[in-house]
Amino acid sequence: MKNKGTIGVTTQDIFPVIKKFLYSDHEIFLRELISNAVDATQKMKTLAAKGEFKGELGDVTIRVHANPDASTITISDRGIGMTADEVDKYINQIAFSSAGEFLEKYKDQEAGIIGHFGLGFYSSFMVAKKVEIITKSWKEGAEAVKWTCKGTPEYTMESVEKEDRGTDIVLHLYAEHKSYAEEYKINELLRKYCSFLPVEIAFGKEKEWKDGKEIELDKDRIVNDVKPLWTRKPVDLKDEDYKEFYNKLYPMAEEPLFWIHLNVDYPFKLTGVLYFPKIKDRLEVTRNKIQLYSNQVFVTDNIENIVPDFLTLLHGVLDSPDIPLNVSRSYLQSDSNVKKISAHITRKVADRLEEIFKNDRPALEEKWDNLKLFIEYGMMTEEKFYDRAKKFALLKNTDSKYLSFDEYATLIEPNQKDKDKNLVYLYATHAEEQYSYIEAAKAKGYDVLLLDSPLVAHFVNLLESKMKNTRFVRVDADTPERLILKEEASKPDLKEEEEKELQELFTEALPKDVTFTVAFENMDEQQLPVLITQGEWMRRYREMSALGGGMNFMGTMPESYNLVVNLKHPLVERIRESKDEKLVSQVCDLALLANNLLKGEALTQFIKRSVDIIQ
Ligand code: ADP
Repeated sequence: MKNKGTIGVTTQDIFPVIKKFLYSDHEIFLRELISNAVDATQKMKTLAAKGEFKGELGDVTIRVHANPDASTITISDRGIGMTADEVDKYINQIAFSSAGEFLEKYKDQEAGIIGHFGLGFYSSFMVAKKVEIITKSWKEGAEAVKWTCKGTPEYTMESVEKEDRGTDIVLHLYAEHKSYAEEYKINELLRKYCSFLPVEIAFGKEKEWKDGKEIELDKDRIVNDVKPLWTRKPVDLKDEDYKEFYNKLYPMAEEPLFWIHLNVDYPFKLTGVLYFPKIKDRLEVTRNKIQLYSNQVFVTDNIENIVPDFLTLLHGVLDSPDIPLNVSRSYLQSDSNVKKISAHITRKVADRLEEIFKNDRPALEEKWDNLKLFIEYGMMTEEKFYDRAKKFALLKNTDSKYLSFDEYATLIEPNQKDKDKNLVYLYATHAEEQYSYIEAAKAKGYDVLLLDSPLVAHFVNLLESKMKNTRFVRVDADTPERLILKEEASKPDLKEEEEKELQELFTEALPKDVTFTVAFENMDEQQLPVLITQGEWMRRYREMSALGGGMNFMGTMPESYNLVVNLKHPLVERIRESKDEKLVSQVCDLALLANNLLKGEALTQFIKRSVDIIQ
């Protein structure tokens, strides 16, 4: 038999389009061809299992051979193979027309997504100027056939000799794509796309170091794990297995905190393992590490818009044939399967955390600092997750105690209600920098939280909006007396004239590039003579606008502080009598210094002045 023909039903020549198609995703051809080989092998196994095939299944390893000198790549399987009629039907007609349809349908779409969806067999023409299929069907008495096509709609088919059942696909690469036949390149593609395919894939031989030389052994090198962890039953797996798999996925990463094994059959198919990585303070570093598979074939590691944003911070593997990848990303979000999958994952993540909270609280506390940013971010961006997380989220105080939201409210209820019946949550964002303020608040019997994540301004805002009659106040937002006002504050006894005079005196001693409001108060004698505070709202909105969030005008406003003068302090009494400018400068500088606001020339002058005083 030898015949020629013209491919398919379409008259249009799609080969130039295939060749130009998606430069960045040329490499998917190997995934497509190996996936076909896997399908053919699995069909063969099914036939054998059902008893329809009575012969020997034999070795069904899929083999990849490359010859860089000849610029060829061969993919061989021992699957079901094809008869001449089947080649005609599946390759000449169906495959070709569906490749054509595919290109027609997606030619205007954003490039990124199309590459995730294969062109099938015809994607080989992105890199090959000539492709041969040598195939022999499993069916009794089938004749082997060779199909050849040189990237034009014309093909030839002829009978050939082939011993084994199965298919060899031979690609003759274009000169500009010959690097795909290099060993390192094939290894890279196999690692990326085929690491977890369900049929063994051999490429090259095992190697060993002997007497300082690397020698090849007479043993096929299998590149994939046919039964990756996520396809196995959780009862059969130990913690070590999960950690080892994580290490395989991310060789350089630190050990994960927790993990979840997903396994859903209905109403959609989803398996996978999600890991909670340690997230210190930078969200971006951990983002988009989840690998998405479809029946163990790698599809993408960019799952943006497929799952809620906060879940993209997790690591691991999701495998679902029910996520449609042949549509644009914006469409994905409205796909009903994708929505269900997203909701399922969100729920599972919450379930797992709640379970740890209930059954292993010490583990949650121990890992909280590395986990909290993920949870805070989830609470801020997913309403449903907030509703779940408020039960297991922890708050850490400045004594390193971890309390749930409810526990904390109970703790501060007796002593931290203000005159308007608001429960006041005091917090510090930096234990060292705000040390004196924290101590002063504690001296009043208050508890102080340590909220030190980079999203704190937004997070605190969220909590205030969710919890009724609650205010969050940073410890340096006011004087200790006024942090939680339990009754109307009394006005200090100061005549208008003296107040004006003192105000001028203090303003003169303060830096001019920052706005200061000078106020007077009757504080404790034990307190400092002057104290710098920064109003909660101004500071919080400034921080929020710096993080982005639609309030950018705040970012451009100058920093402003309050300088509170303690009228009860002996030094201030001396100042009131003497109006000594040097003394005023000294107490102001001390307060500035305590807040890291004394710099440059002013700092030098302060040091000189201090030396003069002690001499
Ligand atoms: P798809 O795999 O999406 O069906 P392809 O264009 O990749 O589309 O392949 C078309 C058809 O050709 C397959 O459905 C299958 O019937 C047949 N085929 C491709 N590769 C092989 C193979 N290695 N062994 C047996 N049949 C194959």
